[in-house]
Amino acid sequence: MNSDQFAWPIPGYVYISSYYGKRKSPTQGASSFHSGIDIPAPAGTPLYAIESGEITFCSWGAGGGYTIVLNLDDYPYISASYCHMSPNFNVSLHQKVERNYLIGFVGPKNVYGITNNPYKDSDGNPTNGATTGTHLHFSIKVNGKTIDPLNYYH
Ligand SMILES: [Zn+2]
Repeated sequence: MNSDQFAWPIPGYVYISSYYGKRKSPTQGASSFHSGIDIPAPAGTPLYAIESGEITFCSWGAGGGYTIVLNLDDYPYISASYCHMSPNFNVSLHQKVERNYLIGFVGPKNVYGITNNPYKDSDGNPTNGATTGTHLHFSIKVNGKTIDPLNYYH
């Protein structure tokens, strides 16, 4: 994937298993309006900042599982979210990062130790947010509203 504007968040992985927009909810707790794109990749796959910016969220994010939000320096009305990540973040809250900085990794499907985690797989094991397998859920907000991230890539 190339962009005139932003770096691709997960180099080497371009297959999109679920596009932005209306869909059938794939698992309980997952929205029927898909707020981003899903890019399947193994746990541990590195994830990078699409542009220089500030980390404005870096924590457990309920349905998103372990999540990072990056607010862009040159486009302060744009933020990028990375969901279902590994809890071993490579950044901390309010850290400033350059474009292509390694921010963390795709997380495992199952996570343990989250109090009152409502998300579970068919075996009853707690999952990394509303997810059925390891992938990056990537979304972009413009002025607080999600848009199709692929608008920025070709
Ligand atoms: Zn998704």
